[in-house]
Amino acid sequence: MKLLDGKICAESLVSDISKKVVGYVGSGLRKPHMTVILIGEHAPSESYVKSKIKSCASAGFDSALLRFPENITESELLAKISSINADPATDGLIVQLPVPKHINPQNIINAIDPEKDIDGFHPTNFGRMTLGQKAFRPATAYGICKLLQFYEIPVKGKHCVVIGRSNIVGKPISIMLSNDFDIGNATVTLTHIETPRELLLDETRRADIIVVAVGIPGFVTEDMVKEGVVMIDVGINRLESGKLVGDVDFENVSKKCSWITPVPGGVGRMTVAALMINTLMAYENNFNLL
Ligand code: NAD
Repeated sequence: MKLLDGKICAESLVSDISKKVVGYVGSGLRKPHMTVILIGEHAPSESYVKSKIKSCASAGFDSALLRFPENITESELLAKISSINADPATDGLIVQLPVPKHINPQNIINAIDPEKDIDGFHPTNFGRMTLGQKAFRPATAYGICKLLQFYEIPVKGKHCVVIGRSNIVGKPISIMLSNDFDIGNATVTLTHIETPRELLLDETRRADIIVVAVGIPGFVTEDMVKEGVVMIDVGINRLESGKLVGDVDFENVSKKCSWITPVPGGVGRMTVAALMINTLMAYENNFNLL
């Protein structure tokens, strides 16, 4: 078993980005700029936002963290998004999810200018990505593809099983792995909560690559996988003990894997790296550098 180390891969990608930024800034351009909106107090969001801001510094980007109270109204938030959309000094905008219950997250996602939508959640980017056009690709799914590419894991022609169909992970990764992309051309089965257990097991037991994003600790067990499987664990679950674990019973499943992502230090790191790639792309689009 070998580790698909998200930390090593992310550091390498961010280092490449920072070299490009040095060149752009050296030629007289401003730095790329990411704005992150954080609403209320939510411990996991605090930690995700912190790592995004930290990664911006490593990449040589400027960043701004805008905090708003839990009771901000949807229309106030939409007005703020609209002013950032119009601000030429911001290349990429993230509204950290989840938003408070009184705010409809889809309205927020739809309000972000698709050219600044570095999370890749806007329907325009999701649609373009699905059609195989140039787009900001949803960051976690894109990060997974970059990790597979970094470790030269063959994907073309492989049988992939995705467990979980969220709009932010399961759905986009199933499309990306099956599309005619550099990291793609796999045959993909997308499973979800309504997939009968026997069908799920039939699929996972013959999968070459499994991507699991369900949010249930230890969901994937040893009996569900074949020898040599490549296991991508997207889950981030905090146990009562405080320990962070994924959706895979790592100790037992890893013995059968050819490759597996650790949690933490796997896909989470890659999500942030993919955001940096998307931000650089937004910047390069702005300045016609591509
Ligand atoms: P979600 O929480 O929105 O939905 C869970 C999905 O799991 C649903 O699509 C559901 O159909 C599926 N599911 C639930 N039980 C199932 C079952 N028994 N069999 C098959 N499918 C089942 O999904 P999400 O937002 O993608 O989050 C999933 C996990 O990934 C969470 O732990 C989350 O914290 C984590 N996550 C990690 C990153 C990262 O950067 N590493 C990014 C996003 C989400």
